[in-house]
Amino acid sequence: MLPEELLPSLEGLEGFDRDAFIKVHASGEKITSIRVNPQKFSIEDVEFSSGGKVPWSRYGVYLSDRPSFTFDPLFHAGCYYVQEASSMFLEQALSQSVDLLRPLKVLDLCAAPGGKSTHIQSLISKESLLVSNEVIRSRVPVLKDNIIKWGAENVVVTQNDPKEFSSLKNYFDVIVIDAPCSGSGLFRRDPDAINEWSLNNVMLCSLRQQRIIADILPTLKKEGILVYCTCSYSKEENENICRWLMDEFKVQDLKLKIENNWNVVESPVGYRFWPHRVKGEGFFLACFQKIIGDDDMPLKKVKNQVQLNKKEQAIISNWLKSDSLRFIKRENNVYAVPERHFMDVSHLMQLLQVKYAGVEAGGIMHDKLIPAHALALSNLLSDSISANPLDRDNAIEYLKKKEIHMKPEMKGWQLVQYEGHALGWINVLSNRINNYYPKELRILKENV
Ligand code: SAM
Repeated sequence: MLPEELLPSLEGLEGFDRDAFIKVHASGEKITSIRVNPQKFSIEDVEFSSGGKVPWSRYGVYLSDRPSFTFDPLFHAGCYYVQEASSMFLEQALSQSVDLLRPLKVLDLCAAPGGKSTHIQSLISKESLLVSNEVIRSRVPVLKDNIIKWGAENVVVTQNDPKEFSSLKNYFDVIVIDAPCSGSGLFRRDPDAINEWSLNNVMLCSLRQQRIIADILPTLKKEGILVYCTCSYSKEENENICRWLMDEFKVQDLKLKIENNWNVVESPVGYRFWPHRVKGEGFFLACFQKIIGDDDMPLKKVKNQVQLNKKEQAIISNWLKSDSLRFIKRENNVYAVPERHFMDVSHLMQLLQVKYAGVEAGGIMHDKLIPAHALALSNLLSDSISANPLDRDNAIEYLKKKEIHMKPEMKGWQLVQYEGHALGWINVLSNRINNYYPKELRILKENV
């Protein structure tokens, strides 16, 4: 049952149709969609039976059934992300308002669990840097795990409150605020959210949304792009917030080109996704350009990060593809960061709580690298590392962190792969094979 006060509060909104809205919520229909990782996979590789393409994303595809993703090794290899289709519309906002081939600094301010961040990473160039931030500490590990699975080297994960970004004035070219909201757009998928919904919570959310925007806007460059979105239907969290934003700050609303057959509804400001119109859940997105602001500020010189000596660099370089990398040592772990992002990453490490940056390569012990799980899944891993193909059953046993049955020809650290995609590390000793799949990621369920 939908909350009693919700329906009257939606009357008069563009695209709202009371009967159709009630019907679609009662239908029990569940839509499943995934977005592929173009650095590892393509839509043509998707083996699940397809329910067609998501019209507004070149990487999105609907599935006709919901398979058990837990028991698909490709899910763990970071070949795709399970994401609600409407929210993939972010791709239109970015590709229509930003030159994505330019080197950009992008902030995804409310990022966990990482749906928008992994999507943004697939849209920007290697010369661009994504800061993926999540303020709630308990939500950072899942964000970090999803970024690691995605395999890219141009992402920094931070854990900061929006106001803690204040020293980065005029720094970002693009900011995405996927704001915490009352969540009505996800009622079909998460019926528990229905009991938590109230008009009072909508008001509290809208005040928080204003605070978040006001805190972060100074960090957007002049002419920079702000994308604001929610999964709420309430105008108090959507159009009203946008109007407040345009009244209080010098920003201009950007119109996007929408194909008629997408059934996306254009509001006076922003775009609405209604589940009785689109194949997806409730979603709202608006896109703005900042008209005033100062010009770019050069980065201040920062304290040097602890780097590696020549010998350590040589040890690590054998494992990596690219030679234009710099290494940062934190505690005992070494992170590989592309040379072109090194200054920015060092800068961010001084100003923010950086939880992850570039690709964690591993730790050096007795002149050898103990490779990190992240390195196995990363795009930086050298092609010369030996890899062992696993069949599906063995891949699942590996992902459960159980013993796997195989006879590698060589000893030492090696990859295990499923259908050519790395799952993680094993260390082959003379009498056994050690499974190095991270304990905290292992599959706990016994059967599908
Ligand atoms: N962008 C994510 C994705 O696509 O996977 C979903 C983000 S969710 C809608 C909103 C996020 O905002 C949550 O992870 C929540 O923890 C975070 N959040 C909560 N309060 C916040 C605040 N005051 N400032 C910034 N983010 C906040």
